[in-house]
Amino acid sequence: MAKKIKQIAIYGKGGIGKSTTTSNISAALSKLGYRVMQFGCDPKSDSTNTLRNGEYIPTVLDTLREKNSVKASEVIFEGFNGIYCVEAGGPAPGVGCAGRGIITAVQLFKQQNVFEDLDLDLVIYDVLGDVVCGGFAVPIREGIAEHVFTVSSADFMSVYASNNLFKGIQRYSNNGGALLGGIIANSINQPYSKNIIDDFAKRTQTQIMQYVPRSVTVTQSELKGKTTIEAAPNSAQAAVYTELAERIAAHDKSTIPAPMDTQTLRQWAFDWGNQILELESGVVVGGIQAGI
Ligand code: ADP
Ligand code: MG
Repeated sequence: MAKKIKQIAIYGKGGIGKSTTTSNISAALSKLGYRVMQFGCDPKSDSTNTLRNGEYIPTVLDTLREKNSVKASEVIFEGFNGIYCVEAGGPAPGVGCAGRGIITAVQLFKQQNVFEDLDLDLVIYDVLGDVVCGGFAVPIREGIAEHVFTVSSADFMSVYASNNLFKGIQRYSNNGGALLGGIIANSINQPYSKNIIDDFAKRTQTQIMQYVPRSVTVTQSELKGKTTIEAAPNSAQAAVYTELAERIAAHDKSTIPAPMDTQTLRQWAFDWGNQILELESGVVVGGIQAGI
C-alpha cells in the first residue's frame, strides 16, 4: 500500500511571513530526511524563491496559458536539498478568480498521480489569509490538505485574519474539510506579544506550534535569496525553524477551532489595548513610574 502523504496548508495575513516560514519549514524537513513539495498558492508566485537562490519559476497557470497540455514535470522545479517547488500562479492581473490557479494545479497533479510517483512525505501549500474567495478555500474545503496552520503575529489585523480562517475551517469541518493544527506565532519579540497570541490561542481552542522571533538573520538570508536554514544553518533562528518542522512532522491530530464572533474579537482586542497601555505606562509593573 502506498504510504500516507501528509498534506498541510499554511494560511495567514499578507506579508505576515507565510512564505518565509513555509520555506524554512520545507528546508528543515528536507534536512531531516523527508521528501517535500512546497506548493505556492499565492498569485504573487513568490513562495519558493528562497528555495531557489532567489529565482522565480514559471507558474502552472502561465504554462497552461502557453500550451494546451502540460506535463506535471514541466511545472515542478528542484529547490534546496531536493525540495520540489511549484507555483500555482494567478490569472492575468484584474481578470478572473485568483484562486483558480490552485484548483487547476491540484487537478493537474491528481490526474497525473504526481504526489504518489514522487514518493513524497509531505506537501505544504502556502496559501493566502482570507478565505473569502472559493479558490483559496480549496485546500481546506476539499480536504486536500488535512492540517491547517496559520502564521500570525500579535497584531490585530493578523489575528483578525486568523480568526476569519478559523471561521472557514469551522464551516467546512463537517464536510470532510481540513482541521486546524495550530498557530505559528511570528515576530514575537515583546513579552506582551507572547501574552496576546497565547490568549488568542486559548480563546479559540487551539495551540501555539512555535514562537518565531523577528530576526535580522532572516532578513540577511532573504537578501541572499536563501532560507535561514540554508544561509545560516547554525544560527539560533535555524534551530527555531527546525524545532517547528519537527513538531509539524510529528503532528497528527488537528481540531475544529472556536473562532470569536466579530463583536467578541473587537472587545477582546480593546481589553488587550488597555492592558498594554497599563504595562507600558507602568501602572501594572511599577506603579511609581506612573506617578501613583
Ligand atoms: P507572506 O508570505 O505572508 O506574504 P513573507 O514570508 O513574504 O510574507 O514575509 C514578508 C517579509 O517579512 C519578508 O521580507 C520576510 O523576510 C519578513 N519576515 C517574515 N518573518 C520574519 C522574521 N521572523 N524575522 C525577520 N523577517 C521576517
Ligand atoms: Mg507569501
